Amino acid sequence: MTLRVENLTKRYGETTALSEVSFEIPDGNFAVVLGESGAGKSTLLRILNGLTEPTAGSVYLDGEEITNSRSDIGMVFQQHNLVEELSAYGNALTGTLNRTGFFRSLINRQPVDDRELALEALETVGLLGEAGQKVGSMSGGQQQRVGIARALVQEPALLLADEPVASLDPSSAETVMEYLRETAETRNLTTLASLHQINIAREFGEQFIGIKSGEVVFDGPREELTSEM
Ligand code: ADP
Ligand code: ADP
Repeated sequence: MTLRVENLTKRYGETTALSEVSFEIPDGNFAVVLGESGAGKSTLLRILNGLTEPTAGSVYLDGEEITNSRSDIGMVFQQHNLVEELSAYGNALTGTLNRTGFFRSLINRQPVDDRELALEALETVGLLGEAGQKVGSMSGGQQQRVGIARALVQEPALLLADEPVASLDPSSAETVMEYLRETAETRNLTTLASLHQINIAREFGEQFIGIKSGEVVFDGPREELTSEM
């Protein structure tokens, strides 16, 4: 789906976290929001995910305005927020809670297609062989891939990743980014990841949105990136 953001502004009291932010991400694109700490990346992703109300502005998915939190927007968090005692498979399956609502999940046994979705998602992130392993015993990179699988089980129309590799070593970070990019490509899933490291962004992004002090200072493809970003 095409994501369009129009004139998003967010103020916290005296602080302007976002100021008239506008951009568009075409269907299936893998976009990166680049900016230093405090630039407004989290605020932007939280608004897109419906976790925070903007002060002004609008967000559209395929032309339809998003007004509330939607069940088809997947989110990957920096601190993956997984259930350590559950297996990779169990964690992936919790993605269905976001899709179907907690109530349905409690009263029904998991339908077979949810189980298949969870296994497919684990396969997408290269963890089918580790499906039964407790995530508490997995590496940070593997845990983040489980986080991606959980978001995929939600069957998202849009995938958001808030600093998905900030707490990982460089090699795990590359692997996680590779899986995110591949997922966007193979599932034609519009993806927006926030990053503060330009080298990782440059390697994996297709579209780059630079924000500085809450304002968009760059929006373009890799070829147009400059070293000051
Ligand atoms: P980033 O994710 O790029 O580090 P944030 O979106 O977290 O940036 O923050 C942008 C600005 O908004 C910062 O100045 C931050 O202190 C401020 N901010 C973020 N969330 C809140 C909040 N809940 N209350 C007050 N100020 C906030
Ligand atoms: P991130 O690294 O994702 O930007 P932060 O450490 O900036 O996270 O913020 C963590 C949480 O604290 C967020 O919920 C954010 O909205 C809130 N927050 C950030 N800055 C402020 C602030 N100046 N005042 C109040 N809350 C804030």
